[in-house]
Amino acid sequence: MPSDAYGNYVDGTWTESDSGDTFELRNPADPDEVIGRFQYSTTADANAGVEAATAAQPGWAEVPAPERGDILKETAKRLEDRKEELTKTLSREEGKTLSEARPEVQRAIDIFYYYAQKTRDYRGTVKAASGTDSNLYTVQEPVGVAALITPWNYPIAIPAWKLAPALAAGNAVVLKPASQAPNVARKLFECLDEAGVPDGVANFVTGSGSEVGETIVQHDDVDAVSFTGSAEVGSHVYDSATDGKKRIQAEMGGKNPTVVMPSADVEQSVDIVGAGTFGVTGQACTACSRAIVHEAVAEEFRSGIVDYAENIDVGPGVEDPGMGPHVSESELQGTLEYIDVGKREGATLEAGGGRPTGDEYADGYFVEPTVFSDVSPDMRIAREEIFGPVLSIIEVGSFEEAVEVANDVEYGLSASIVTDDHSEANRFVDEVEAGVVKVNEKTTGLELHVPFGGCKRSSSETFREQGEAAMDFYTISKTVYEGY
Ligand code: NAP
Repeated sequence: MPSDAYGNYVDGTWTESDSGDTFELRNPADPDEVIGRFQYSTTADANAGVEAATAAQPGWAEVPAPERGDILKETAKRLEDRKEELTKTLSREEGKTLSEARPEVQRAIDIFYYYAQKTRDYRGTVKAASGTDSNLYTVQEPVGVAALITPWNYPIAIPAWKLAPALAAGNAVVLKPASQAPNVARKLFECLDEAGVPDGVANFVTGSGSEVGETIVQHDDVDAVSFTGSAEVGSHVYDSATDGKKRIQAEMGGKNPTVVMPSADVEQSVDIVGAGTFGVTGQACTACSRAIVHEAVAEEFRSGIVDYAENIDVGPGVEDPGMGPHVSESELQGTLEYIDVGKREGATLEAGGGRPTGDEYADGYFVEPTVFSDVSPDMRIAREEIFGPVLSIIEVGSFEEAVEVANDVEYGLSASIVTDDHSEANRFVDEVEAGVVKVNEKTTGLELHVPFGGCKRSSSETFREQGEAAMDFYTISKTVYEGY
């Protein structure tokens, strides 16, 4: 490619956009630093990605599954060789600390190894036929061409957890990464390319959601759409994919609670809530944003979590502080606006509440870890996704009230409880409305080999991601009755 901008990857070649336009990516800790320029792609570029995938998919489906697995395994090895470089790339574009970025890269590596192995397991099941001289079995086949649309907050893990099962099952894909953090995903495609993925099987097109995203969701040759992002965009994508009779999964936002009960060790609760709330700058769909605390331990918890928040050192992700910046100016503004809303609603600001002061924070998108107490369940800060390091403490008088408050939001992604009471823990698992439930653990952090997804407004509730469940989305079953 002649220009110095990073390309799209279409039909096995790094290409420039039809538009001739590019967009710039800057380091959120130091916006003067330009990380790179990316293709501002058009509908024609997105169509080219789908056309390449459509042409390549039948051939890829015919490749014996273990051979597809070999390419995934080779991709994992190449990611592994570049682990430190990818960690720094991720931190520089998204803002995560190195200690947060490194496990995310490792997760992408593990995901590719996992689905490389899974290629050997997916073909179908044999059942006993009712007649004599007959076979009855199912065959799992790829869905076809999948459009993958990913958010910026896990810019390598989420592309990996969509790409690897899709490719393992014999689908061809077009991935549109988030415009805020496309660089580490681009490097993942370099690894796929070097690992020998056939031309057209995996395509990467950068550009706006409204043009590239819309085009791949609506394209007639796309059979399945896997979306992760906000509830607003996700609902729209869901409607447009279902209008086109496509298979769709949409995983979206959260307003995740941790319930703290009187039997809990309060110090442990503070660590669990603190890590869940302020980790990755609160920019996780599973981040804790509500501490629903029993009144018997509320005071002790409040003082512990304020101390926790005030002791987090904020700084550029690449210097590996306790907490990095927001990914962008608009995300920072969004969080600051919610902090204002909280104050106006009458919550008590206990810690943080603004941008940190000092020359080193002057330009980056830094925000202080923030804690509100005296939050009531009807306040906006208790109901809407903030997507920043802001905790609302809601006091309750009983387990029943805690569950009622936990469930009284539109979202249902992740929820946890801190308790030493076995039956309370089990009742919580039964009664809380969330796709991920944890006992004595933070709301964030997922294992890659179990299903992941939300309920209510957090998810289309169609198909789960990750683990074996991901293969359900990327395969379709054929039932064979064979007499002989
Ligand atoms: P977003 O604004 O909804 O964007 C997500 C992706 O959709 C981006 O690639 C975006 O492209 C694209 N897009 C935007 N408009 C589109 C359209 N009309 N058609 C098709 N695609 C379109 O979300 P985000 O700000 O990147 O991510 C943060 C959100 O993701 C939070 O709400 C978080 O909770 C959620 N999330 C959920 C999960 C989960 O598994 N449940 C995981 C991580 C994050 P551009 O970047 O070019 O706008």
